Amino acid sequence: MPVTTPAAPLAAPSAPDRPDTLPQDAGALLRQDPEIAAVLLAERDRQAGTLQLVAAENFASPAVLAALGSPLANKYAEGYPGARHHGGCAYADAAERIAVTRATALFGAEHANVQPHSGSSAVLAAYAALLRPGDAVLAMDLAHGGHLTHGAPGNFSGRWFDFTGYGTDPETGLIDYARLRALARARRPKAIVCGSISAPRHPDYALFREIADEVGAYLVVDAAHPMGLIAGGAAPNPVPYADVVCATTHKVLRGPRGGMILCGAELAGRIDRAVFPFTQGGAQMHTVAAKAVAFGEAATPAYTYYAHQVVAHARVLAAGLEAEGFEVVTGGTDTHLVVADPAPLGVDGRTARERLAAAGLVLDTCALPYGEGRGIRLGTAAVTTQGMDDGDMARIAALAGAAVRRSGDPRTIAAEVRELAARHPPYPA
Ligand SMILES: *Cc1c(COP(=O)(O)O)cnc(C)c1O
Repeated sequence: MPVTTPAAPLAAPSAPDRPDTLPQDAGALLRQDPEIAAVLLAERDRQAGTLQLVAAENFASPAVLAALGSPLANKYAEGYPGARHHGGCAYADAAERIAVTRATALFGAEHANVQPHSGSSAVLAAYAALLRPGDAVLAMDLAHGGHLTHGAPGNFSGRWFDFTGYGTDPETGLIDYARLRALARARRPKAIVCGSISAPRHPDYALFREIADEVGAYLVVDAAHPMGLIAGGAAPNPVPYADVVCATTHKVLRGPRGGMILCGAELAGRIDRAVFPFTQGGAQMHTVAAKAVAFGEAATPAYTYYAHQVVAHARVLAAGLEAEGFEVVTGGTDTHLVVADPAPLGVDGRTARERLAAAGLVLDTCALPYGEGRGIRLGTAAVTTQGMDDGDMARIAALAGAAVRRSGDPRTIAAEVRELAARHPPYPA
């Protein structure tokens, strides 16, 4: 039976200046350290004054930020609820039990570990639980949207495991499952990793499971990007198919920066030991509490609506970019992500990103399924949290086209972006 003791009461904000975005007595910070306070306020204004289209970003709620700024940040709680290496863990235990209960209910998983410090830490722990150094692993090639933890030479994954990359079809931009199956048969990997930083379409989890079973491999789904869509019922849930699901809590899911792992009961002990003590020390308990707050938010009808709006908005944005002359990878999107090639407008992804940034449209470049050129990658999670609608998405696409083509005065475009942002403050006063 989970303990439901409420978390320790949070100190009331007493800051004169927008306490909602600097929750824990921002007044004290302003008085004591004006230098760093000025940096934080400038970042707050940057986020509110430009449009955040980085696909991995979102605006956590004031409640999530309040948990992050709470005194639970002071608490050491190595171990797991009921089995800690420190005294005074009653409320830390309560926070973690609530987070675990909410996560398992939200995603329909038998077991959740909410301690990973980040998405990368979650993947590291998943590999630690299932693999030995040198084991063969299949994952999405980095040039096709794989994450650093999927075998990059500069990452622990590439150093310690024998990765082979599968990829996408250059024509369709979709996963080449025939090649994945052929590689699985040839390599006999210990694990197959399914997940990407830039796939605008859903993976076929049932087919991944089938291929993994054929060669006796574990299936690890790294759902860092779509986890929030999954929570809101706007994307298929990998939990019934995967041995282990890794995720972040700060992308579409809109919680604090951090990671999580879901698995079945039979792997629970191995996953927990792989997180602590194998790859981490004490968990950040304020972050664990903030994850619980985010899981609570994600279980509401308002969040379900949000997740579906995120996808609807990405579709409008993709169509708008296509109308502006961008080549949209896969011709559209099923998720929050849009990948577009600006080559038809005469520039590559890096130049496009620079011109867009100058206009106040903040986003990333990314690899394309074909050639050496780079594209741009956008997401609609943050602008949807701000309350923007379909019309705003169409406007963003038009402004992006104008900024990349350099049609019109760049200052006029930037002013329009600022005005659009100002109409939708991420943290209304
Ligand atoms: C974002 C992401 C991660 C890593 O998350 P961090 O919190 O930045 O470590 C891992 N895998 C995938 C697929 C991601 O998109």
